[in-house]
Amino acid sequence: MNEFNLIRNYFETSSYQRRDVKVGIGDDAAITQIPDGQYLATTTDTLLESVHFLEGSAPNAIAHKSLAVNLSDLAAMGAEPAWINLSLSIPSADELWLSEFSNKIRELTEYFSIQLIGGDTVKGDLAITITAQGFVPPDSILTRSSAKPGDWIFVTGTLGDAAAGLDVLLGKLDVHDLTHKNALVNRHYYPTPRVLAGQTLRRLASSCIDISDGLLQDMQHVLNASSVGAVLNLDQLPISKALGKSIPHLEQALEYACTGGDDYELLFTVPEVHRVSVESAMASYNIPCTCIGQVTGAQGKLELRLNDEAYALSGKQSTGFQHF
Ligand code: ADP
Ligand code: MG
Repeated sequence: MNEFNLIRNYFETSSYQRRDVKVGIGDDAAITQIPDGQYLATTTDTLLESVHFLEGSAPNAIAHKSLAVNLSDLAAMGAEPAWINLSLSIPSADELWLSEFSNKIRELTEYFSIQLIGGDTVKGDLAITITAQGFVPPDSILTRSSAKPGDWIFVTGTLGDAAAGLDVLLGKLDVHDLTHKNALVNRHYYPTPRVLAGQTLRRLASSCIDISDGLLQDMQHVLNASSVGAVLNLDQLPISKALGKSIPHLEQALEYACTGGDDYELLFTVPEVHRVSVESAMASYNIPCTCIGQVTGAQGKLELRLNDEAYALSGKQSTGFQHF
């Protein structure tokens, strides 16, 4: 199969189609129409085999995660996703791999009503780069830099599951209950981008970030960007039943929740005046969210508390994931 047949067979028709795409896959560039009065949000993430996903991961899991991490970045900006570009480096034109991969792309583009509008295909070590674009009204951009002292700190969903799932796969964590084990492993392979939550937080949250490298590290990014501090109450961290039941020691569960990467939940701050609106909006969409602390004026300082007492994590990697 040559490159052009590969693109035609697996990508040209493997996507939901949108009316705002004037020229899609097949020409030298895509042409798209941005809605009047909206801004364009653009983000890119690359996933490398053995760095971002385990060698031998199922193609549908690789496709899912590649897309999810990008949609999560758009969600954290309050943007509505619209278009994606896919740059694929593959060692060979393995038809089974390509069809499973592209089927997942089709399924997710349909679910999110987004269109694959172009990309690139090369031979090389397995690497997937997706660029995602979306729209945001000019008065509702969510950034990391506007948290204010007194704001409440919230997270969506539960924390630490994906990292625990990875440890299960690596044989570092033993989970006997099969339901809990599958729940953790699935959160590692199939993270859920909080697309609707991000748009719900427009004009309500004062800052927002998605948790990709662990709660503490991503919280610190917000503190640095906003020149504020924070107190986090670790007893309030949302821990899933699967994680809580699998790990008898609270310390270790907290370690996963604080430093485990790849959860792709949203971490956001809310001024007191909007707290009730946020809680009821999230409840109306059935999006779980939990208040875990408060922003302070102590520039850059992150204080951890457990049952109202100062707390320090004991683990070695208490700063979260870093490439370099
Ligand atoms: P060019 O050589 O002009 O850069 P390519 O041969 O790389 O074009 O690509 C042909 C068309 O197929 C382009 O529209 C490009 O965007 C699209 N394309 C290539 N690879 C992919 C892919 N993996 N996913 C989606 N579209 C792709
Ligand atoms: Mg060309």
